[in-house]
Amino acid sequence: MKDFIPTNGQFSMMTLPYEALGDVISVQTLSFHHGKHLQAYVDNLNKLLPGSGLENLPLSEVVRKAQGGLFNNAGQVLNHTLYFEQFSPAPKPMSAQFAALLEKNFGSVDAFKQEFEQKGATLFGSGWVWLNADPQGRLVITQHPNAENPVTQGLNPLLTFDVWEHAYYLDYQNRRPAYLAALWQIVDWPTVESRL
Ligand code: MN
Repeated sequence: MKDFIPTNGQFSMMTLPYEALGDVISVQTLSFHHGKHLQAYVDNLNKLLPGSGLENLPLSEVVRKAQGGLFNNAGQVLNHTLYFEQFSPAPKPMSAQFAALLEKNFGSVDAFKQEFEQKGATLFGSGWVWLNADPQGRLVITQHPNAENPVTQGLNPLLTFDVWEHAYYLDYQNRRPAYLAALWQIVDWPTVESRL
């Protein structure tokens, strides 16, 4: 995963690399999720950083070392940045090498997607489902509540689906599994693979 570096102890708000994602995530959801929710996490992170002793560290280091409100806001900035950056309205497909890696670890690409969706659907409450590389290079799927990120467990995060209700309620209401199944249509695999 590439890291995110602050300027003068402050993190900047990411710009979305697209204006719309078709029917999969509406423009209205994007405007609230990116424009309001992520903006609030960035603002809170930047308010809490001065005097914390963690100023000027890369974002993943802040997430590894912070606690309480600073951890929650730093985690949500990292989680949402990875989430929004991995999508495209015209996504490029998975490479044959990455498909082979998924087959080796999960049996097939479809079996991987099924387990990923199932772990997203069964995460109780708010949180995130992740595909990660472990230190031995194996691919593993993990569930994390609230603002947690797999970097706290020594994993390298590659792909994530946000299962907080604010990510899908305007478009899918209570149908979280339908939201998870639809997201595959907009995953830009070269972006995911570049984090390996
Ligand atoms: Mn979110």
